[in-house]
Amino acid sequence: MPIGRPEFNNPEFNNNDAKITFVGHSTTLVEMSGVRVLTDPIFRDKFRLLRRRSRVCTKCIDVGTLDAVVLSHMHFDHMDYPSLAMIPREVPIVAPVGAGRYLKRKVGHDVVEMKVGQTIRIGAMDIHATPSVHDSGFYWPLWYPKSVLSFVFDASHTVLFVGDTALFEDLRDVGRRFDIDVAMLPVWGVGPYLRGHHMTPAEAAEALSLLSARTAIPIHWGTIHPAVPGWKDMPFLTEPPHLFARESARRAPMTEVRVLSPGESTIIRAASEEDSLFESLGIRSAPSEVVPA
Ligand SMILES: [Zn+2]
Ligand SMILES: [Zn+2]
Repeated sequence: MPIGRPEFNNPEFNNNDAKITFVGHSTTLVEMSGVRVLTDPIFRDKFRLLRRRSRVCTKCIDVGTLDAVVLSHMHFDHMDYPSLAMIPREVPIVAPVGAGRYLKRKVGHDVVEMKVGQTIRIGAMDIHATPSVHDSGFYWPLWYPKSVLSFVFDASHTVLFVGDTALFEDLRDVGRRFDIDVAMLPVWGVGPYLRGHHMTPAEAAEALSLLSARTAIPIHWGTIHPAVPGWKDMPFLTEPPHLFARESARRAPMTEVRVLSPGESTIIRAASEEDSLFESLGIRSAPSEVVPA
């Protein structure tokens, strides 16, 4: 089913490279094949009992040229009505089944509901809904739908965005079904302790070994924290991606880990013939390239 606006072909992003920006927490911007998709937008500095460590630059994201917003689930660190209201109404929201009636009432965007196994198309990009295991945790209001999705964005590259999840064996099937260029994996929670179904950095590295991705970008870290004085610089805000990189070197040595700070972008180059030759020999190589926002 095609969705999105007809003028999606932004020439700036319509080449064979993919650009990925870690805006912060689970908010990422994926740009490839002329399509721009934003995940789980959280733009506010203060919300509920949480605080943001660094300002987010909504102008840099240029929400006016987005083709879609994708929501993994209805936890408040992923679905924030005031942040969604900052995005023009013409931009459709893709969300798990059951979320549409709540979103429609609050923000007025068109909502496309998806469940695991479904695919939609936006311009040159297919968006596939894939599973997450995250059935615990506090939802407010309590009657919010509890379905949780991950998504594969498939265009010039294949990019996996994983919503909150525990480590689960079926990730291996996702890795078998898709030839993943980039896996964006959550490596922490929100506070100093992990609660509910989240992955430790070591578990995220284990997940990476099941997925067999070429490149990994750790997300869901370093951005927001409980509003407790002195917690802004606690180790739980800085250490998880580096622990993840260290564990991944051991458990998924074929995958290059790129640690982006909130606000940084990276370019994933089109695979060259040379890369293909290396891959046929079982060697994966891609130069690191991190671009500050
Ligand atoms: Zn969650
Ligand atoms: Zn979360």
